Amino acid sequence: MRTALLTLSLMLIAASAFAQPVPAEFYHSLDELYQELYDLEAASPERIAVDSVGHSEQDNLPILLVKISDDVAVDYDRPTVLIVGHIHGEEILGIEIILEAITQLTTDNHSEFRGRREQLEMYFIPTMNPEGLQVVFGDGPGLVHGPDRSYRKNKHINMNDGVFKYQVGLGNDTSGVDLNRNWGLNWFHGDSLFHYLDEAERYDYYRGAHPFSESETRVVREMHELVQPLYGITYHSSRSGTFSEKLYYPWKYGGEQTPKYAPDIDVLSDIGDNCAAQIIATDGGHYVPAPSSGRNAKMHDWTYAAGNWINLEIEVGLAVLQPDDEAAKDQIVEGNLPGIYYLMDRARGLEDIPGSSGYLEVHVQDQQGQPLVAEVFTPDFWDGYLSPRYTDPIFGVHRRPLLSQNHTIITRAFGYGPDTSVVYVGPDGPSPYTITLTRKPHSWLHLRAIDVNEDAIPATFIVHRDFGSDTLDVPTGDWGGNMPHGDYTVEMWSDGYIPKVESFTMDGAFYLRLGLVEPDNIVFDDFEAGVPPRWTNTGDFDWAQSGFESYSGDYSLKSDPDLFLDVNTTGTVTVHYDIPTGLESLALTGMVNYDLEPDYDFCYVQISSDGSNWTDVDTYNGVSDWRQFLIELQDYLDEDDVYVRWTVTTDESENDRGVFLDDMALLYSSEFLSVDEETVRPLTWTFHPAYPNPFNPSTRLSFDLAEATDVTLIVYDLTGREVVRIVDDHLLAGPHHTDLDMSSFASGMYFARINAGPMNETKKIVLMK
Ligand SMILES: [Zn+2]
Repeated sequence: MRTALLTLSLMLIAASAFAQPVPAEFYHSLDELYQELYDLEAASPERIAVDSVGHSEQDNLPILLVKISDDVAVDYDRPTVLIVGHIHGEEILGIEIILEAITQLTTDNHSEFRGRREQLEMYFIPTMNPEGLQVVFGDGPGLVHGPDRSYRKNKHINMNDGVFKYQVGLGNDTSGVDLNRNWGLNWFHGDSLFHYLDEAERYDYYRGAHPFSESETRVVREMHELVQPLYGITYHSSRSGTFSEKLYYPWKYGGEQTPKYAPDIDVLSDIGDNCAAQIIATDGGHYVPAPSSGRNAKMHDWTYAAGNWINLEIEVGLAVLQPDDEAAKDQIVEGNLPGIYYLMDRARGLEDIPGSSGYLEVHVQDQQGQPLVAEVFTPDFWDGYLSPRYTDPIFGVHRRPLLSQNHTIITRAFGYGPDTSVVYVGPDGPSPYTITLTRKPHSWLHLRAIDVNEDAIPATFIVHRDFGSDTLDVPTGDWGGNMPHGDYTVEMWSDGYIPKVESFTMDGAFYLRLGLVEPDNIVFDDFEAGVPPRWTNTGDFDWAQSGFESYSGDYSLKSDPDLFLDVNTTGTVTVHYDIPTGLESLALTGMVNYDLEPDYDFCYVQISSDGSNWTDVDTYNGVSDWRQFLIELQDYLDEDDVYVRWTVTTDESENDRGVFLDDMALLYSSEFLSVDEETVRPLTWTFHPAYPNPFNPSTRLSFDLAEATDVTLIVYDLTGREVVRIVDDHLLAGPHHTDLDMSSFASGMYFARINAGPMNETKKIVLMK
């Protein structure tokens, strides 16, 4: 219905105007653009480098990255800028702006241009949508209708029929993905029409199959991760004129009544307002700055959230996307160049540049002075939308625009002691600091999953440690590694067994062996045939069987049957299990997928044995993929009942989909686990006495290894002749034992000798038949 309305309204605009070619004499086609860039490189190879850094999704066209400095062959530790000229096919004015800037920055020898080359590394992606540019010019394969001056997307063939489907004029382009709706923040909100429809046609703002489904967005993401731009711009042109001559910076979500600003909003508005004031509009005024308001998977919100790469979305021109008047085009280009140079000169730290925020420049190193990749965390300017910010691996540097004031900076890297410093950031340019992190002592950690026969079994270890976790797939069930001292929680999972979790503190070599048992019974809910009666609802909405998402089969259990949660709402689902007597092992596992507004909407997970006194076990917030979870219930073995409940609660604005649960499994067993179930002790080099001794015909030889090492364990007779070589192997740290059978040997005294690392010991053993 909504699709039909959209189509109708767009049909009112005459398509014929868009079939006219773009004025080729003063706009650059893709071939002309790339040729001009390569000509500039050939003329000044020390100042400009032009490289293909990836290709477009459908037609495999190169995407070019342009680098400009005083010596492009060298990677300098300098502030960087990254300007993207073109993302929407028909919005070609940005290409002309960026090409003029590239030309001036490469060829102009006045001091301000020399200074930019000498103090910055300047990067440009003239177009990240070469396919869309070709459609506008009528170039490239599959253009049966000729050029389309209104084409917006790339050419991704969505219907998998090999045919590029487009119509000249606004809308009705079945092929293609909107490259400004395909980014990894708020992706689900990227377009509002096609959330779960198995639609026959797409439309102009199609967000793609998943975040970064398009090679163009992946390439530009990689360039941000590589270049880590301090400032950037992406150019657009307003299709209708509604948004023209405006500059958008991240973000103001939540509407006028309950505004929710980006944590750096004061810095963002300082940069955005001052940049907009440099740009000359067609009436002689200036561009109008504003925070962006829609949570819709745009590039500039993502760059800021992902890495604090501040990117301004500038909408140039007036209502006409491609003025047919060269003078009008030139006026737009000239008017926009001061915006680019303003950001560059601000990155240089020039004192007479308008603005009140400079930037932090932290170099992180180890005690030997080597650069370190570390997280630089600014707790006062942070929220749940933001990803951790790291120093780069080459220089160990992180640059971040901040208000001019004192800031608390926490610097941390796994394996190192954290640093908390209060640093002052000035109003102009960089405020440089060097932070040295101290490496923590490391010791050997050995993890082993065993079955009831004490045999190691294939397992996945999830190691939760300082600000992160590692998932280790270990087919042998044995894992060892040098790990920093500190607190750990380890989950051990093995197919067909009840998983376990254990927490411990490492302050020396450490060995954790967990015995896993197979379940006697599994209470399993996959929600394929509805919601079983052990699940009950309370609150404003029901959790219900949902076909929107599933981990297996077609259905899951969703908080609220509607697509989006309401505002100011709370709903709880509780599952009740009768617990049999005589259990020794009990755990609940399941799959969860959640989509909850960061910092504002939450899901709380709690356990109870009586349905009235609850213990918190987890909180969900933000966006996840399907992931497995484990709630160990060993404390509830003696209870008659276990209740687990999930409560979703939302605030007064901005809704997301909520929480999906699937494949819930209560696993239990009456099996008694051996005393080796949890063996946790620091390790030494020890060769234990044989037991029994004397023996007939077999005895057990046991030894502990403090580190992984080559081991030989050999039995000699009284004459010193080797009679049995029991061990000759590289073994992990931890306790080991081997059973020696001497039924084919004569009674008498023998010697067992071990050689392992610093341990070289002999023990007397006596076979008495
Ligand atoms: Zn655009």
